[in-house]
Amino acid sequence: MTLYFFLLVIVSLMCGSAPAAGEISPRSVLATITMLIGWVVLIHIAGRWMAHQVKRGELHFVEAADYLRTQMEIFRWFALPITIMCHYGFSLAAYIRIQPVLESSMFLQACVLLWPGLTLLASTWSAEYYFAASVGTQPRTFRSYSAAMGRMMRAGPAWLVVPTLLFMGLGDIFEMVQTNWFGSASLLSGESSWMVWAVIGLGGCLVALLLPYLVRWMAKTQPLHPEIEKEIQTWLQRCGMSTHRFWGMHVARWDTGGRMLNAMVAGLIRPGRLLLISDRLIDELPRGQRLMVLMHELAHVKRWHVPLRMAAMMPAWFVSSCASKWLIEYGMMSEPVGAVVGGLLGLVTTVMVLGGISHFCELDADATACRLAVRACQRQDRHSPEDADEAPEVEMTLAMAAELMADALVRVTADHPASRKMSWLHPSLATRVGRLRRIANREQSGGSDLVHGDWEHGDWEHGDWEHSDRVHGDRGHGDRTHPLPDPGSEGHTLAI
Ligand SMILES: [Zn+2]
Repeated sequence: MTLYFFLLVIVSLMCGSAPAAGEISPRSVLATITMLIGWVVLIHIAGRWMAHQVKRGELHFVEAADYLRTQMEIFRWFALPITIMCHYGFSLAAYIRIQPVLESSMFLQACVLLWPGLTLLASTWSAEYYFAASVGTQPRTFRSYSAAMGRMMRAGPAWLVVPTLLFMGLGDIFEMVQTNWFGSASLLSGESSWMVWAVIGLGGCLVALLLPYLVRWMAKTQPLHPEIEKEIQTWLQRCGMSTHRFWGMHVARWDTGGRMLNAMVAGLIRPGRLLLISDRLIDELPRGQRLMVLMHELAHVKRWHVPLRMAAMMPAWFVSSCASKWLIEYGMMSEPVGAVVGGLLGLVTTVMVLGGISHFCELDADATACRLAVRACQRQDRHSPEDADEAPEVEMTLAMAAELMADALVRVTADHPASRKMSWLHPSLATRVGRLRRIANREQSGGSDLVHGDWEHGDWEHGDWEHSDRVHGDRGHGDRTHPLPDPGSEGHTLAI
């Protein structure tokens, strides 16, 4: 998730409490539609103009694609003020709050709140495709166009939008259950309280159970090659993770059309946890680096990084509510202005605290991954003789794991130099490699004589670990096509 997607979704939803500016009328919808049409047309004109210049030979394709990418990036950021303009300036948020069906549904209100921002975001992808189709690097078919749009949505905002809408939908159901079944009975008190708690518990279980299926659907998964699956399951089991068919962690190949070097674990609780490994990561990364990427993901699970990141939202909630309360109580601001300032302070706190915690989690996961890798590769001949064939020929050490991890980080960021820089949720490549180097050096000074590799160039001898064992190895670097000039967001490829 990039900072941009986070801000787009959060700012859109925060606009839900926007007060009405003047009279509330259907004109707010009309004004929003007119404004969106204007921007969508403008964005496509930019794409058409660039394609035109390439076709006339005035610009080289790569140059034009670069210009277009910059333009689209600017348009994407414009989506934020435009969203605020629609909800505050045109009173769209205030209008939908009093509509017959919308007023009682948080889910539908959220859909409308997200609509302007997501429309503009989607139209920047559409303009990129339009450019690619015009210059002939993409087919001019609706099927291919909609597939590209779906892929972009799945690669970015869907991860935030779908769970948010699911949460809102469950809130609606809960509200309906409460009003229809319990009438005026107050929440969490009286005789019906146990029923309310039962509904909350049931809802929680439902979300936990639905999440992996939702992720499978969003991410488009395929079964893994049996050999790879068995190897990964062995690694997981040795690190103490169950791979039981029903209760353990599932592993799946993530079909990204050969575009992403990415891996992730979806699911908060044990049954139904899903480890997704992208197609490119399986096909292109050597075995040792693949192991380290998986160990990094596993480290996030083992070290409770997801709940920690969720807890990082708490200070923002506290800052937001306290700030607006004080500002309004002490008469420094009127109620609507105080609420907006409080909301903004909460947003800034979220971005800062979540960013800081995420950086810590990434460095911690790298270090933990090294320790887990040593465990995953320990020969266990005594306990399970059938594993003997699967065991690596070279014994894994902490220093070797640290260097493989650094190699993997260098590799997954190789195609996108921007992803090597520090981002909101990830430290820079230099910081991460520096930390790993320290782990290796500590190990080295502790007596091991294994580390003498060249970090930057990755020409270190890993023995058996260095060999790439491509199973579906027909999708190499050379024949991989880029459907769009570029996804436009370096966060897509910054995997782990
Ligand atoms: Zn990570």
